[in-house]
Amino acid sequence: MPDIIHLLPDSIANQIAAGEVVQRPASAVKELIENSIDAGAKNIKLIVKDAGKSLLQVIDDGAGMSEMDARMSLERHATSKIQKTEDLFTLHTMGFRGEALASIAAVSQFEMKTRLAGRDLGTWLLVDGSEVKRQEPVACEQGTSISVKNLFYNIPARRNFLKSNPVELRHSIDEFQRLALAHPGIAFTLIQGDEMIYDLSPSKLSQRIIALFGKSYQEQLAPCQEETALIKVTGYLGRPESAKKTRGEQFLFVNQRFIKNNYLNHAVMNAFEGLLQDNSFPFYVLFIDIDPKHIDVNVHPTKTEIKFDDERAVYAVVRSAVRQALGSHNLTPAIDFKTDVNILNKLNAAPLSREQYYAEQFGGSMERSNLKHWEKLFESGDSKLFSRPEPDPGMTLRFESAVNHEKEDEKTDEKAVFQLHLRYVIRSVKNGLMIIDQQAAHERVLFEKFMKHFKGEPGSSQQSLFPQTINFTPTDFALVMELEQEITALGFRFEVFGKNTLLVSGIPSEITGNEKDLLESLIEQFKRNQAELAVPVRENLASALAKRIAIKSGQKLMAPEMEGLVEGLFACSNPNYSPEGNTTFYVLDTSKIEGFFK
Ligand code: ADP
Ligand code: MG
Repeated sequence: MPDIIHLLPDSIANQIAAGEVVQRPASAVKELIENSIDAGAKNIKLIVKDAGKSLLQVIDDGAGMSEMDARMSLERHATSKIQKTEDLFTLHTMGFRGEALASIAAVSQFEMKTRLAGRDLGTWLLVDGSEVKRQEPVACEQGTSISVKNLFYNIPARRNFLKSNPVELRHSIDEFQRLALAHPGIAFTLIQGDEMIYDLSPSKLSQRIIALFGKSYQEQLAPCQEETALIKVTGYLGRPESAKKTRGEQFLFVNQRFIKNNYLNHAVMNAFEGLLQDNSFPFYVLFIDIDPKHIDVNVHPTKTEIKFDDERAVYAVVRSAVRQALGSHNLTPAIDFKTDVNILNKLNAAPLSREQYYAEQFGGSMERSNLKHWEKLFESGDSKLFSRPEPDPGMTLRFESAVNHEKEDEKTDEKAVFQLHLRYVIRSVKNGLMIIDQQAAHERVLFEKFMKHFKGEPGSSQQSLFPQTINFTPTDFALVMELEQEITALGFRFEVFGKNTLLVSGIPSEITGNEKDLLESLIEQFKRNQAELAVPVRENLASALAKRIAIKSGQKLMAPEMEGLVEGLFACSNPNYSPEGNTTFYVLDTSKIEGFFK
């Protein structure tokens, strides 16, 4: 048998390596800007077109490269940053693997202009899928300019895999923000299409934060500082009561490298404990400086995960640093409410009683005659419509305690409705016992209601007493603008109020709550749905809002609320499942119940 093993040509090897390093335009943004930082640039400009899909370009005024180095930089494992293994443990550069440029050039149409200081001419290189097409001397500025065109043009499967422009742009802006935060002394510009998104001059960290996230951050930053023999922690924390319902403004850097680390994020959250509302996430930008010999950056090609040799010690210092900062700046909600806009939110919240809320939610009338309506449906013999799977034979029902709670309810046995374990609504029906999952059912009811708003019955809006401004990240802002029509159809009212800022003046009349929380969490849930399920925009929005405001399991319900819920569910065109596909109700057939006692 002949020998069959051979080495792969470079172009293929590079394409394979690219799979790990370059997942999307944002990965190239990160690698190119890191190179500019390593080259000592003072000004870095990022230009993206079509969310980086057709073009992304990074221009810097760093050291530049010689003709030979420019060519070498495209080889895999070619780097100027380390020479021997030990160098890995004393790293002071962002890069060291020497594979970014080779990878990017393997999957794009790549162009580089670069000139060393003191040289008259620079060099120009044109590369097409790893293959150097031309290299010529060129007159250019000192530094390096790299254009990456039509990323993944030669790997259609990857290109098709890219998400929509707003999503891809958000990833790139995220990378840009992280790098700009880590290096406030460097001037950064970001241009998307014809629009200047950021123009950041060199500044202190606090000013950089404000330039990136908006003026509203000015008052809410508390400095955080702590130093031990092992590490130094510095940075800023946002006030607890300014914490957002959306994640995404938590920044942790180790030796100026942005990292993702759930364990250390937990240390920060733990220090905030007791100061935050449920499911809200405080802003923070924290820098950990540590001797490189105590960390391993080489865990992952994208270098966002690192290992500490003593993670627990780092955890303890981070938590104590945050605790101390919160304590010494008196960032307790009670104190700050007096001067904070949150007092307005408080005044504005929950103007409806629970009874009023449910009356609106289910169309008001809780008359028994109305309840008959769905029972008729159910009893009409059209069993296919609501046919349920066979009950679990091992199922036992314990409802003594719940029954006792309903003593005051004077309904006849047949119509009794009660709650089980604050989770299920139980009601007798002609052919047995109906068990309704209160949360899933309410999500279905709301979902169908909201879907109607998109189909010619726009939701009415309740005007806010105190309209609130919401500051979004540029990408979330772009997303809200993209969804403007739909969000308005649901009953939200808002207008653009300065850069990335909205003034929200109304919310759907059927819901209560704080405008800011509602809109923020709607967007957050929308994004989560978008990432997890591929549902059309309207379904996504309707189910996101339904999920956000539906009755939760664990919530005590009054008899009229339960009846309203049952009625609402069976007025739905598809009552069997929640928008996410969870079963909403189940009927335990009388014959099965009889079977238990034979
Ligand atoms: P790494 O950054 O891990 O060394 P890269 O593939 O990103 O690997 O870059 C390869 C080499 O090209 C770098 O080590 C550096 O010498 C050179 N280089 C890349 N980008 C620039 C730049 N913007 N300015 C100067 N030199 C650069
Ligand atoms: Mg690099």
